[in-house]
Amino acid sequence: MTSIQTQILDKINEYSTIIIHRHVFPDPDALGSQCGLQKIIKESFPSKNVYVVGEEVEELKFIHRMDIISDDTYKDALVIVCDTANLPRICDKRFELASFLIKIDHHPDLEPYGNLSWVDTSYSSTSEMIMDLFSEHKHILQLNAEAARLLYIGIVGDTGRFLYRGTTTQTMKYTAELMEYNFNPQLIFSTLYKKNKNTARLQGTLLLNYEYSNNGVAYFRMTKDILEQFKVDRNTAGNLINTLADIEGNKVWVLFIEYPDSIRVRISSAGTVINDVAYRFNGGGHPLAAGATVYSWEEADALIRALDATCREQHINNRI
Ligand code: MN
Ligand code: MN
Repeated sequence: MTSIQTQILDKINEYSTIIIHRHVFPDPDALGSQCGLQKIIKESFPSKNVYVVGEEVEELKFIHRMDIISDDTYKDALVIVCDTANLPRICDKRFELASFLIKIDHHPDLEPYGNLSWVDTSYSSTSEMIMDLFSEHKHILQLNAEAARLLYIGIVGDTGRFLYRGTTTQTMKYTAELMEYNFNPQLIFSTLYKKNKNTARLQGTLLLNYEYSNNGVAYFRMTKDILEQFKVDRNTAGNLINTLADIEGNKVWVLFIEYPDSIRVRISSAGTVINDVAYRFNGGGHPLAAGATVYSWEEADALIRALDATCREQHINNRI
């Protein structure tokens, strides 16, 4: 049986035009895997036309810029989609014009797509998968400093600087190998993790004023008033969720973000399984990180009570 990696390489070999997509609202792993793969293919097969497409976000332009291509480019093109679990999340709908579609991803394969699909949740990141593809095929593929920088950014982004549980010995081995190339990790860290003053002040308010329940649920309400007062957009505010991690006693931490017609909820946990509660409140996600939506502050309180009960029950059952 031909391995999935070999099948992907056969397709890359076969096509002279390759267009690489990734998910909407890109993160460092989406861009790192997308553009890292582009550089590897370009370095290994200089005569091929390899493009990266999708909407750009201001803060991540330093990682790599996107190509502007016409619809005609998709004629007889191979499209590879990186780091994207399902079709609706693919950025730039022109992937539909592809002559052949390949999915490469590390999220659970709940909604499979593509003529060929390599999905493996054991990898920390899609960037690590691309590194693995290179590593297993060094007789065919070439890596350069720019590709190494991009894959490094992707791995750093998805592992939270090697903190999260997806970080394995393989992750560290590949990272060490990437660091032998000539790029500046310090510059990456200082750019990627810089926050503006307004966000830092909001983070201070969050730490001073968060509330907590009897059994270990810490929570904070990002109301419309607070968001206006600190001039922080809702997306950035939601990304402050892990400000409440690693504080003694916090088993589960929650941010409520007020929208004009709903309140979105981000929930994270140190060990208590919380996605079933998220599911009951119009959401879902992973066992230890999930999202939900409520429609009033009373319902928000009910969500906190449900999480508090879950913490109490699981503590009794599992001694978490
Ligand atoms: Mn991603
Ligand atoms: Mn990822």
